[in-house]
Amino acid sequence: LNNDANKQTSVEKEFENNIRPREIADFSGQPQTIDNLRIFIKAAKLRGEALDHILFHGPPGLGKTTLSRIVANELNVNIKETSGPVIEKPGDLAGLLTNLEPNDVLFIDEIHRLSNVVEEYLYAAMEDYRIDIMIDSGPAARSIQIDINPFTLIGATTRSGLLTAPLLSRFGIKSRLEYYDAATLKNILIRSAGILQTKITSDAAAEIAGRSRGTPRIANGLLRRVRDFAQVLSNGIIDMNITEHALNALNVDKYGLDEMDNRILSTIIDKFKGGPVGITTIATAVGEEAGTLEEVYEPFLIQEGFIMRTARGREVTAKAYKHFGKTPLRGSGD
Ligand code: ADP
Repeated sequence: LNNDANKQTSVEKEFENNIRPREIADFSGQPQTIDNLRIFIKAAKLRGEALDHILFHGPPGLGKTTLSRIVANELNVNIKETSGPVIEKPGDLAGLLTNLEPNDVLFIDEIHRLSNVVEEYLYAAMEDYRIDIMIDSGPAARSIQIDINPFTLIGATTRSGLLTAPLLSRFGIKSRLEYYDAATLKNILIRSAGILQTKITSDAAAEIAGRSRGTPRIANGLLRRVRDFAQVLSNGIIDMNITEHALNALNVDKYGLDEMDNRILSTIIDKFKGGPVGITTIATAVGEEAGTLEEVYEPFLIQEGFIMRTARGREVTAKAYKHFGKTPLRGSGD
């Protein structure tokens, strides 16, 4: 159940939108990003100009969409939302761009999935607020340049490594979202429980926070499930007892690791004697792209001390062995 943070049903999406912070003051964590954004937003408003283009990158569920909406809200402008794979041809993009009002935000999720032609079309729009449009068809067809309103492009991606240099260079502001610490996640959970009008004890919030893989989306998802257990099996209050019961029933990992995390660790331990082993070799063994391992999974495993990056590849730590109830093999060939 504690699986891919990106796959969501419509019920989950609606739930997420309900508890999504709308103002900068309600957004917890990411202090550096927030402090900088406050300055840039204020400066753009003082000058009456469009805010520079922004790229938010980082693993799923950390608040890229939320922040994009907050930026538009704080700028008092509209936000149009789309995503890389949805914009199939330059004409689709032209339609979006010509409908923007001055200083509006265009949000492109999964911007690493834009096609090459669409991406190249975006360059002039980002740089000069100008696009080419085809008029007429057949032999009379020709393209003309038209001006569009100044706008802010906000791109979001889990895979910044896949963005081309020309696209990257057109974002004036680039911000990497980091995994949240347990204390911040606990605050997010308490706020969410308030919106859901559900009572939660402090220790229960801390317990859920610790098992949420540093990710608000996962924390809020677990809160929703634990609330079900509290309502059906108890008095509706989320306390430590019902939380432990629910998290065990849901098979939620003690450290909040998900299926892929566990697969990566057990593969390194069982197939590669704990490492060191190269990232592409691990990727092949677990059936995932090396880039995704590097940008989405590994940072959390390194941060939590399960994996070390060494000159000869990735190595699991004693903590990883312990997690699987195994004893580290050391000193054999090293
Ligand atoms: P992303 O776009 O990075 O995948 P989202 O912005 O959709 O992530 O956030 C996922 C969920 O987590 C949303 O429901 C949002 O309300 C919640 N969330 C994310 N970051 C925060 C935060 N800093 N404070 C409170 N809730 C957050």
